[in-house]
Formats: sequence, structure tokens, C-alpha cells
Amino acid sequence: MKLITFISEENQTAAEQYVQSVYQSVIKRNPHESEFHQAVKEILDSLTPVFVKHPKYMKSGVLERIVEPERVVSFRVPWVDDNGNVHVNRGFRAQFNSALGPYKGGIRFHPSVNASIIKFLGFEQIFKNSLTGQPIGGGKGGSDFDPKGKSDNEIMRFTQSFMTELYKYIGPDADIPAGDIGVGAREIGFMFGQYKRIRGGHEAGVLTGKGIVYGGSLTRTEATGYGCVYFVNEMLKFKGLSFQDSTVVISGSGNVSIYAIEKAQQLGAKVIACSDSNGYIHDPNGINLETVKLLKEVERQRISEYVKHHPQATYTEGCQNIWSIPCDIALPCATQNEIDEESAKTLVANGVKAIGEGANMPSTLEAIEVFLNNEVLFGPAKAANAGGVAVSALEMAQNSMRLSWTFEEVDAKLHSIMKNIYESSVLAAEEYGYSGNLVVGANIAGFIKVADAMMLQGIV
Ligand code: GLU
Repeated sequence: MKLITFISEENQTAAEQYVQSVYQSVIKRNPHESEFHQAVKEILDSLTPVFVKHPKYMKSGVLERIVEPERVVSFRVPWVDDNGNVHVNRGFRAQFNSALGPYKGGIRFHPSVNASIIKFLGFEQIFKNSLTGQPIGGGKGGSDFDPKGKSDNEIMRFTQSFMTELYKYIGPDADIPAGDIGVGAREIGFMFGQYKRIRGGHEAGVLTGKGIVYGGSLTRTEATGYGCVYFVNEMLKFKGLSFQDSTVVISGSGNVSIYAIEKAQQLGAKVIACSDSNGYIHDPNGINLETVKLLKEVERQRISEYVKHHPQATYTEGCQNIWSIPCDIALPCATQNEIDEESAKTLVANGVKAIGEGANMPSTLEAIEVFLNNEVLFGPAKAANAGGVAVSALEMAQNSMRLSWTFEEVDAKLHSIMKNIYESSVLAAEEYGYSGNLVVGANIAGFIKVADAMMLQGIV
């Protein structure tokens, strides 16, 4: 008995030291990349119990290898605006980990994009994709191009220039990009057209999120938002709660947010607020989703226009105070670090019961701690927002078979994937002594599969 305690204490210390030393080397090797450090820290903080139980992962250097991208490319993207002015943006693709399958992950167009943002997203994607149970590795790409206010022609010229470089690194069995912030069906269409033109063949499986008429999957548009609500619904059920008659605040008004609103409303919730990067609207009567869809999907307008259609609603400039609106459930679906410690404390003080992260890393590490310490149900991004990439993998499957499934078929598969992710996260948390902590559960469940695959493939 004594011997076992002694050995496990030794293992504990060795595991803690191992995790710490890998984290320090990440900071040293990637200076000034705070978002990447944050994403690595969130995972690493959960993994000590895994190394205590399975020291084999330490011996084969799984952690040192997993935090180092297999490859990152960065390239010049020159383009000409409608007035004939030349602009230069920077493009990226981080091919982070291919242990489970070809690199898979979106492309983000946003002025904040830099190496740190792309690496945090690519790193998260490894574990998220693993959790889906599908054969996809992790990657991410993007550019600091700002699509806001650009004409369709400018978007097309930029996107074609971007793909003229990116095509060298991707392919249906190598790396399959998709959308993310600033990249939707329009941009994927332009990228696909340019890829096809350069490569000279209709390789449908090279991108996901395609238009339905040329190889896209039904339900892909809805998948991240619906999936997030399915996941939160599982968390609520466990506590005897539901979306029915709950008050919900959902940040953002892009693809993820719109379809989270739709599914939450279908489940009987009252969604009272949403936002864009300029500010937020509060409609105590419940948001009219048709208006949001019209403004955002058709007219490409700002969310502030909503109050012209619905005068009972209010618009507030700036986004942070959206979290001061009392609600039962909050779904951050806008961007990284949108909920800080103070916003988390405000949500808790106002009685929030559940958080589901629809965006990538929307809560800071301090905010997550506030939620966990106050027993708020917390669905971390890599589990709760995995529905998008899960349906992307279903799109790849359909492309390979040259078949198309119905909306209902894909939606049913999405629903069961989200349930499985919830269950495997719950089980992993229990197994490693963190019952009820889905952050730890999702991180461990996602990690183990990748780690096992890496071990089986040797030191590569
Ligand atoms: N950008 C989405 C994500 O963060 C989707 C990626 C994909 O479909 O490949 O998971």
C-alpha cells in the first residue's frame, strides 16, 4: 500500500514537472503569442492526471511533439481594390497534426489574424476534431484581410490571390480547409473556383462548406450553431433543466450565432440578445430571427439596423455589456476572449445556469475558473462547437461516395455526434477524478486518441 502511494506521488511530481517544462518551452519558442500560450495552457492544465496514469506518453515525447505544428506556411497575398490601389495581406496555414487524418480546419479572414491566432485555432482543432470521432487531423489558416466593407469583386480578387498560393499545400487527402470568421459560402465558392482552375479537376473534397449545388452538404451551414445547442441540451438534461422557457443571450450574428438562435428557439427558449463586432441588440420580446437573417445573410448590414425593424429593441454600441443582460443560458458565439473574468462574475451574479461556447476560446482562463467554481454548467468550445467540423467531415464522406444525404440524415448524425462528445467528455472527467468538469473531460478524451495514434506511428 505504502509502495503504491510512494510510486504514484513520484509519478505525480514527474507528470507535473513534465507538463510545466513543456509549457515553458512553448512560451520560449513562441514569444509574444499570447493566444497560443492560452490555448496550450488550457489543455496542459488538464493533462497531468493522464501522465500520472500513463507515463508511456511522457517517454515518447507526445506533448513536446503535439505543441509543435507539423508545418506552418506564411505567404504574401497581393490584390488590387476597385479603385486600382494595390494592397498586400499576409496568408497563413498551420498544419498542426495529422495523426488521425488529413489536416482539417477553417480559414479566418479578420484584421486580428496573426501567427498566434492561427496557431491557437490550429492547436484547438486537433482535440476538437479528435472528439468528433472522425478521421481528421487538425489545421487552421487565414489572413489579416478585413472583408468588412469590401465589394464582391474585391472579395473575389483577394480570395483568388489567397488560393493561388494556398493550393500548393492542400488537397482532398492532405489538407481540407473550410470557413471560419469572415469566410462563408461566398468565399468558399471563390476559393473552390480558383483551386479548380489551377488544378484542372473538380476535386470536390478539397474544401468543405461548399454550396449545395456543387458538392456541399445539407446542414453544414446550421451545424456549428445547432451542434452547440444539442451539446448544451445534454448538459441541461443531466441537471433536469431544458431550453424550454429559458432566457438565452447569444453573442455574435454570424453563421454560428444565427443557427444557435434558431435551434434554441425551436427548443422553446427566448433568445433576447445578439451582437456584431460594433455592438449588441437587446429585444426583451425575443429576437426576430428572420430580421437578423435578412440583415446578416442577405443585406450584409450591421446589427444596429435591427432596431429600425423592431423599435421595442435597444442597440448598445460596444459588445462587452451584452453579458450584463440577465439570462439562464449564455452562448458566446462571436470570438476569442469575449468573456473575461468580470463578465463571468456578472453572469454568475445574475444567475446564469449554463454556458456553451459556440466560438473558439471565447472565455478567458480566469472566466472559466469563475464558472467552474460557481458550479455553472460549462461546455468548452472544443466540445460544444465541434458540430461544424463534424458535418464538414460528413461532407467529405459524401464527396468521396459521390452521394448526398438529406438534411434529416445529416442532422441526425450531427445530433448523435454531439451526444457522443458529451458522453465521452463526462466519462473521461469521471475516470480521471474530475467528475462534472467538461473542460478536463473534453481535453483528456480528445488528447488520448491523438496520443495513441502518434505512438503507433513512431517518432514523427
Ligand atoms: N472553423 C470551424 C471550426 O472552428 C469549422 C472548421 C471546418 O469545418 O473544417 O471548427
